[in-house]
Amino acid sequence: MNNNHDLLIKRLFPEELPSPAELEKKYPPRSLAETTMVTRVAPSPTGFVHFGGLYASLISERLAHQSSGIFILRIEDTDKKREVAGTAELFAHSLKQYGIINDEGLNEKSEEIGNYGPYKQSERSAIYHAYIKDLLQQGKAYPCFATTEELEALRNQQETMGDRSGYYGRFATWREKSTEEALAALDKGFKPVIRLKSPGNFQNKIMVDDLLIGKREMPENDQDIVIMKSDGLPTYHFAHAVDDHLMRTTHVIRGNEWFPSLPLHLQLFSILGWKAPVYAHLAPIQKIDNGNKRKLSKRKDQEADLSYYKKAGYPEEAVIEYLLNLANSNFEDWRREHLDTDNGEFVLSLKKLAKSNGPLFDLIKLTDISKEIIAKMNADEVLERSLVWAKEFDQDLAKRLESDTAYSRQILNIEREGAIKPRKDISRWSEIGEEIEYFYDDDFTVEASLKQEILNEIEPNQAKLIIQDFLSTYNIEDGQEEWFDKLKVVAEKHGYAGNNKEYKASPDKYKGQVGTVAKLLRILLTGRTQTPNLCAIMQVMGQKRVEKRLREI
Ligand code: GLU
Repeated sequence: MNNNHDLLIKRLFPEELPSPAELEKKYPPRSLAETTMVTRVAPSPTGFVHFGGLYASLISERLAHQSSGIFILRIEDTDKKREVAGTAELFAHSLKQYGIINDEGLNEKSEEIGNYGPYKQSERSAIYHAYIKDLLQQGKAYPCFATTEELEALRNQQETMGDRSGYYGRFATWREKSTEEALAALDKGFKPVIRLKSPGNFQNKIMVDDLLIGKREMPENDQDIVIMKSDGLPTYHFAHAVDDHLMRTTHVIRGNEWFPSLPLHLQLFSILGWKAPVYAHLAPIQKIDNGNKRKLSKRKDQEADLSYYKKAGYPEEAVIEYLLNLANSNFEDWRREHLDTDNGEFVLSLKKLAKSNGPLFDLIKLTDISKEIIAKMNADEVLERSLVWAKEFDQDLAKRLESDTAYSRQILNIEREGAIKPRKDISRWSEIGEEIEYFYDDDFTVEASLKQEILNEIEPNQAKLIIQDFLSTYNIEDGQEEWFDKLKVVAEKHGYAGNNKEYKASPDKYKGQVGTVAKLLRILLTGRTQTPNLCAIMQVMGQKRVEKRLREI
């Protein structure tokens, strides 16, 4: 290399930079057992957290921690045009919210933890520059001053001639330019990108081995890809190699949209003189749209945005259990056999992840899981968690729940603690408002049409007498059995069968059956035809409210 070459490098990187050897020392190999995994999730902060991002994070975290390893959250914010402020913090916060603990990187308090940082790529410029400078010195990279127009013209030319597109081989004109030409371009004030001088030959095949996809033959990379953009920031390809090396990542688990880049990535590791991590490319979560499967899309599907689940009020553990289901289909059996075990004890298997066809998203399944999970909570927990949700998304509900927390707790405890079959009709906190609405007097009404519906079944005067008779014996302390016995007595007195069987046996003898009488009470008390256990509802409502509502017939 001549003096001009040194000068060129100095002009490209005038700042003081660490040497690769110093960096190796600063970020030494971790002293971990052979089988221990160091994984990371590396989101680009472009506005929101994708549901698939949580999926990849969960898998990476579980695999790391199951092997007593390390899970890192790294922020890949080198694309300043696409960056949306606050998303990195949102991601860190979301991990925490869903109980996915990262040992290193950004935490939910926006602090960085760990000795292998900084963990935000935009703060790692000096590190990337050190390696880019080193590659330039070795003649393995070069500055390229091709303008957007020139690249556009190249693309058109390649298209017309039927050539592969890209900057490679004979098309890579700046690869052959002299140092003097590069210096002259710098003198004119042009800002170059730095390209890799790819040693690859597209005709050669290499064998790549992916933990999920398996072994595949792929063409060697021959593209002189950009490793540093004109703004001085590295591209994803280059940055991930440097970071995963220096952070001592053992397993890169990422979306399979990166699989085609694998030959390039392996080449980068080899040029930099490093051992590549093991790669596992995840098949993306899919959804059925018009009978066809497609990727869950952030443009088309609200469920692709993690905030959807928060807003809808799904408990975090339901989302996690659902993701475990998507990741390993045997999770469901495991859950059935371990009803009360923390899902952290489930051993996630990389081998059981979907290989090529991504798991199918199904909101109904999530809803079912969620119902099971909420059914296991006690009333205090339901109250506390729905209140947290309501304070953020439904102030009226929050006010209502807080207006008399003992009453709210009692309402939420209907068919819950101690119930043989706890209620399973609530799948998210956003449903609570509707569930408890009729317990409060402020805007309680019985729709006229509903009232009419029952009064078509029971003639109004008789309905009044039924209510009178029922109230004359009803006691708020009555348990389910006494309550029902009293209801039966009243029903029978007014010509209704005590049960459906009797009614069916001789329908002409009766006006109807006890269920119709219960329907009358239910409608007057709740304004609905379907509710949890009516006896329990009445106990919670209290004698005065029950009497008042029933007499309002
Ligand atoms: N920043 C990349 C992305 O968001 C990460 C890919 C990777 O995990 O390496 O797609």
